Amino acid sequence: MTGVKLLFAHDTECSLIAAAALVNTAGSDGEGLPDVAALDAFYTVHSYSGRHEHTEAELRAVRALRPRLRRIWHAEVDEIVSIVNALLREHRALPQLITHDAEPYHLHAVPRDAPLATRMAVEAAMAIADVVRGGELRRLRTCDHPDCDNVLVDLSKNRSRRFCEAGCGNRAAVSAYRARKAAARS
Ligand SMILES: [Zn+2]
Ligand SMILES: [Zn+2]
Repeated sequence: MTGVKLLFAHDTECSLIAAAALVNTAGSDGEGLPDVAALDAFYTVHSYSGRHEHTEAELRAVRALRPRLRRIWHAEVDEIVSIVNALLREHRALPQLITHDAEPYHLHAVPRDAPLATRMAVEAAMAIADVVRGGELRRLRTCDHPDCDNVLVDLSKNRSRRFCEAGCGNRAAVSAYRARKAAARS
């Protein structure tokens, strides 16, 4: 134990980051999951485990989940709650503490051999449920960059995160610098 207090449980934070990243694959920069290989990469980057079919049908199911998850970032609490409850209900979520791959005990609410899109949906719903219960929905935000509609999860202590992970922080710094220079010249 490091003594560092997490805002949410570790599995919740991982799920929130993965859910935001999944939403952003359907962002303003075009299709981020164009083929099965892209989904394979996403699966690896976000340390998923369990069933993974590498099929077009699986890819379609994962893509189809995105608009519903994106809605969570834009909706008010009552709508968020109804999305979360509907996802948990539809997939017959039944939370169980389990351990696998040398990970500490954490919650899975559907079996590991459930379809990938189902597990993604339920993981996201369970994580968002924690955010709602913690009164921390303000941490689900959209990127401050005017040309970007990516979503983000602000897990910083002082709720200071403004930009998504697609480099918008740097882009904003560069435009601010150029604006200052232009102002200095005129
Ligand atoms: Zn697990
Ligand atoms: Zn951005």
